[in-house]
Amino acid sequence: MTLVSAALGIGVIIALMAFAHIADKSAVEREQALLKNGFNGLLDEHARRPTAVALWDEAVRNLDVSYDPEWTDSNIGEYLAGVLDFDLTVVLDRADAPLYAKWEEDSDALSRIGSALAAASPLVEEVREAERRRGPIADHLREMAGQPPKAIYATSVSQTDFGPMALTATLVQPDFGLALPQTSRSAVLISGEVIDQDFLSVLAERYLLSEATLTAPTAPRLPDHATLILRDSAGQAVALVQWHPQRPGAEMLRLSMPLVFIALTALIILAMRYQSKGRLATERLVASEARVTHLAYHDALTGLPNRLLLVDRLNGALGRVRADKQGFAVHCIDLDRFNEINDSFGQQAGDDLIAEVSRLFAEVCGPGDTLARLGRDEFGILQSNATRESADALATRLIQLTNQPVEIEAGRVFSGCTVGVTLIEDANLDAVECLRRADLALNRAKTAGRGQYAWFLPDMDATLRLRLDVREDLRTAIANGELTVAYQPQVHQGGKLYGVEALVRWNHPVRGQVPPSLFVPIAEECDLISSLGMFVLRRAFEDSKRLGRLRVAVNISAAQFRLSDFVSDVAALVSETGVDVGRIELEITEGLLLGDDRATLQTLADLRSLGFRIALDDFGTGYSSLSYLQRYPIDKIKIDRSFISSLGTDPSADAVVNAIVRLARALRLDVIAEGVETELQRVRLAAAGCDDIQGFLFGKPMSAAAIGALLEGAPSQDPQHHSRTVRLAAS
Ligand code: C2E
Ligand code: MG
Ligand code: MG
Repeated sequence: MTLVSAALGIGVIIALMAFAHIADKSAVEREQALLKNGFNGLLDEHARRPTAVALWDEAVRNLDVSYDPEWTDSNIGEYLAGVLDFDLTVVLDRADAPLYAKWEEDSDALSRIGSALAAASPLVEEVREAERRRGPIADHLREMAGQPPKAIYATSVSQTDFGPMALTATLVQPDFGLALPQTSRSAVLISGEVIDQDFLSVLAERYLLSEATLTAPTAPRLPDHATLILRDSAGQAVALVQWHPQRPGAEMLRLSMPLVFIALTALIILAMRYQSKGRLATERLVASEARVTHLAYHDALTGLPNRLLLVDRLNGALGRVRADKQGFAVHCIDLDRFNEINDSFGQQAGDDLIAEVSRLFAEVCGPGDTLARLGRDEFGILQSNATRESADALATRLIQLTNQPVEIEAGRVFSGCTVGVTLIEDANLDAVECLRRADLALNRAKTAGRGQYAWFLPDMDATLRLRLDVREDLRTAIANGELTVAYQPQVHQGGKLYGVEALVRWNHPVRGQVPPSLFVPIAEECDLISSLGMFVLRRAFEDSKRLGRLRVAVNISAAQFRLSDFVSDVAALVSETGVDVGRIELEITEGLLLGDDRATLQTLADLRSLGFRIALDDFGTGYSSLSYLQRYPIDKIKIDRSFISSLGTDPSADAVVNAIVRLARALRLDVIAEGVETELQRVRLAAAGCDDIQGFLFGKPMSAAAIGALLEGAPSQDPQHHSRTVRLAAS
């Protein structure tokens, strides 16, 4: 565009200059024509002047009838030189012989006028010709009937020894016929004026020529000057007139050029602006197109490939399996505590976590691998050139990475992850099937307990179907009262039963017992958690009234805890059932306490002010931050089963349990160990100072009636949950 406007500008200038040139040229031509006409006019004027004396009876008498030199000198010579400003005056007789000659002041110049006479001879001839055509003067005068005859003269510019001259030959004729020429030929008067600078200045003044000069025709041409060549009647160059012509075009250019330049510069600047804007717009367009393409294949938050691109890469990898039997692995990864972190800290924290985790994952992926974000907290990895060992190693590494604390703006968090892996060595599969297999493996790993990875096994399809079926069935199960609550005893080291934990049970009409670790997360996923949770609470509240002074612990899922109506629903249930709130313990998990969530703090405070005790379940598996324990109103911690099961076999488990018990003591919190199955574990716990115990060693979860029977000292009637080891102690 700049180029175009520059070219346009140059075009305009060239056009202007051409226009100026043409204007100047025609101005010069006009001045030349003007000058030429003016010159001819002046010549004519000169030529007419001598008529005043040549068309005169007295002149005929004194020049032709009888020549009077004195009269001639005073009436012709003096008059022409003095009055009419002629330089040369010559009188020829009827035979064209010179009678009289005056050159400037010299009245006897006959000897000096040879060249002038020669130059004038064509004019004389012309005059003689006209004289012949006129015929005898007497006849002519008669024809004119008292009018003077027409003047006969010829004039021309000629070169003479005196320089270029305007020469005129005029026939001497009577004006009234008082004297008549003696023959058919009369005398002729030659008058001449040197064409010099003076002569020219008359013209220059009349036609406003500036710097007009008159030189010999061969003189050098002056720059920027117009010229006019004066020629004699034979066409020979006699003199050169040069002058400085008016140049309206040049003048116009001079005046308009600055404006034109300003306009042009402005135009070019504008054009450059537009061009750069245009270029920017084009670049933006290209960039946005690239961005759109990128967006179509990438995740906006992390910049990682999305499912679409992963599928594309999977198809490529399948092609390589076909071509060179190169197997690959697909990993599906799900962050375990994303929802908790996202709900507790807010969406920004969730986003930060995803970004940080994807950075960590990218570091452990090989250069040929593809890491993709498949969903909210779901990632996929195409591990190229993989073997079972290298896939095991990668999955293990991914889990290790997320078990480390991750620093985000909101604080330190542990996200944890679960991975499903499948090794693809069959080129007949398609990309969707590869992903489905890894996803099934992921579901299996989730069901088995998060924080681990599982390989795809062909029987997994069934597991997935089960999960989907369970989701459907759970809804009707809650409505139809298929759920029950079992109670697991909690005892002091001495064996005294002091409390129970309420655990939900689902006896599916077809599937039999469905474990809560399977259906509770499903209830959380599909908005059934509120009705499930309230069902358990209601049953526990009701049953607690029949369980004497036993404390009843109820598990509260994080999803339920965060429901806005939770506290008011519970309060309403308390007044409805008339439960002794002081005997109810609510078990929450560590994930809830993440960060500085005011709402969590408020809910806990509200629950405590209603009279509930708060226990922290599965302690040691999640965040285990001392600061959480200080910040939140907690009454009790439950040491997770995973530490208890390793007691006596793994020294570090003893150390952890010891530390937790000491910590609880220091914070004046109650502490209980769950999952105690062996006497050895019990002894170790006793040694560590852990006085409260829950586990199969003392009793499996059982019906409220069975607990009631225990309390009454009778053996359990519940065949499923009988326990010989509970040492009964009336409370
Ligand atoms: P939890 O709250 O940690 O419950 C303890 C789990 O450990 C129970 O599994 C219990 O049967 C099991 N258990 C107790 N003693 C032993 C032992 O000595 N050895 C072994 N191997 N296991 C033992 P359950 O009933 O399958 O519940 C699993 C989890 O499901 C619970 O873990 C809890 O998180 C959740 N859950 C159970 N009932 C409810 C409920 O009513 N509401 C909510 N929100 N969650 C529930
Ligand atoms: Mg529990
Ligand atoms: Mg637990």
